[in-house]
Amino acid sequence: MAVILDGKSLSLKMRADLKVKVSEREAHGLPLPHLTAMQVGDNHASTVYIKAKQNACEELGIGFNHYKLPEQTTREELRHAVKEVNEDRSVHGLLVQSPLPSHLDEIEVQRMVSPDKDVDCFHPENVGLLYIGQPRFRPCTAAGVIELMLAYGFNPAGKKAVIIGRSVIVGRPLAIMMMIKGRGGDATVTVCHSRTQDLAKECRSADIIIPAVGVTELVKGDWVKEGAVVVDVGINRLPDASKKLGYRLVGDVAFNEVEPKAAAIAPVPGGVGPMTVAILMSNVMRAAGYQVD
Ligand code: NAD
Repeated sequence: MAVILDGKSLSLKMRADLKVKVSEREAHGLPLPHLTAMQVGDNHASTVYIKAKQNACEELGIGFNHYKLPEQTTREELRHAVKEVNEDRSVHGLLVQSPLPSHLDEIEVQRMVSPDKDVDCFHPENVGLLYIGQPRFRPCTAAGVIELMLAYGFNPAGKKAVIIGRSVIVGRPLAIMMMIKGRGGDATVTVCHSRTQDLAKECRSADIIIPAVGVTELVKGDWVKEGAVVVDVGINRLPDASKKLGYRLVGDVAFNEVEPKAAAIAPVPGGVGPMTVAILMSNVMRAAGYQVD
């Protein structure tokens, strides 16, 4: 039976530790950390994600503002709004929730956010710092994957890791972080993607498999070697009339097939998802530390 990499309980512990740090800041007379989440339009999933971030902030004593802009917001209007928050000294972290409406360019918008407040670690300056091994912030999901493995004693150093997915948000930064020298790194990393010829073969040779794709049960039992560590990042909605919301969440791994073979497995839900929010909170704390008056 695999060890369950329980991101929910680990994230609660991380949040409790951060709550203590927030209180310590307060006791030292420092301003409370503050996060602003900007949303353009009414994408339902974005609203749900922002609510989860708001709940985490409120629980920790971190200030939070949901800055809502209408769907038809122009590039210049958004630039103006971002500039306003960049210049607001009471705000330490700013994220612009993706996806943006199609008339706005995500990469251009990521460059508008002040690098000191870029708690998602999307700004090219922060991506560059990560690349050279001197991160200002750690990308939330990628860092969440690494912390989850380390917390359960699975150190990637020297292991063969196969990451499936090469997105700028998950796969690519995770590959950088797992290959560089140091804590959570030193792995031999292969990045697979939609053009990979034989995904099953790549996975069978891996000590660690991390799918971040968005395809339900892509990774099958016979793709996984005995004793591998499997960290499922994918989040997919399956229609389920028995659920209040009419769907249930599943990952990119065929859990019931893979779990008996794996040494450890992160479930969906309850694995990487909660870790992502916990790392975001630690980035907001970090941002508050950078912006001392
Ligand atoms: P994306 O669509 O930007 O990237 C998907 C990647 O998968 C691409 O690089 C593509 O090449 C690859 N891919 C697509 N089909 C493939 C196939 N059949 N075989 C191999 N590779 C294939 O997605 P993303 O933003 O990186 O998110 C990926 C998944 O992770 C989604 O399910 C998303 O919901 C989830 N996610 C979870 C968290 C979390 O906190 N747990 C955070 C971000 C994303």
